[in-house]
Amino acid sequence: MIAVLRWGHRIPRDSRITTHVALTARAFGADVVYVDEKDSVLEDTVRSVVERFGGNFEIKTGVRWKEIVREWKGTKVHLTMYGQHIGDVLPQIPKNDILLIVGAEKVPPDFYELADFNVAVGNQPHSEVAALAVFLDRLSGGKALERSFEGGRIRVLPNPRGKTVEEL
Ligand code: SAM
Repeated sequence: MIAVLRWGHRIPRDSRITTHVALTARAFGADVVYVDEKDSVLEDTVRSVVERFGGNFEIKTGVRWKEIVREWKGTKVHLTMYGQHIGDVLPQIPKNDILLIVGAEKVPPDFYELADFNVAVGNQPHSEVAALAVFLDRLSGGKALERSFEGGRIRVLPNPRGKTVEEL
């Protein structure tokens, strides 16, 4: 189980980027995304992608994030540019039962304490979407994109020049 906790989501400021966080989490092999602020539009958007493209990915918004963090039985990983470089720390991180925390703005100092690992995808500022994608890809040893998504209504067939979508 890999869960992503998106902290600091604000409507409408973060609507687009949190959608990208959720879709990236799904595409790169996470099972669920938790978002602190209730956002029904975001839920509908992500569920619509799951319904059309398949998989068992879940989204829950308006969550009590402190409880999720407190009750998480596995490993808590906070993605932050101030953390340990991913290349150095990745071998110590278990591959399953990970709660991955990404911020939308400056996160409270508590996060640095409550995380088992503070991981930097490079120590330069960039984006939570990029950090999530690179982390999940490296965690999976490059296999994150090979996961199959069952039960959808449509499937994209790779095409070197154009779009091919199969109705299932
Ligand atoms: N200035 C903010 C701060 O001090 O936390 C940065 C916010 S950044 C736009 C949003 C999120 O992107 C961060 O909370 C972190 O999760 C993620 N992020 C940005 N750069 C990162 C990096 N180099 N490594 C890991 N995560 C990063």
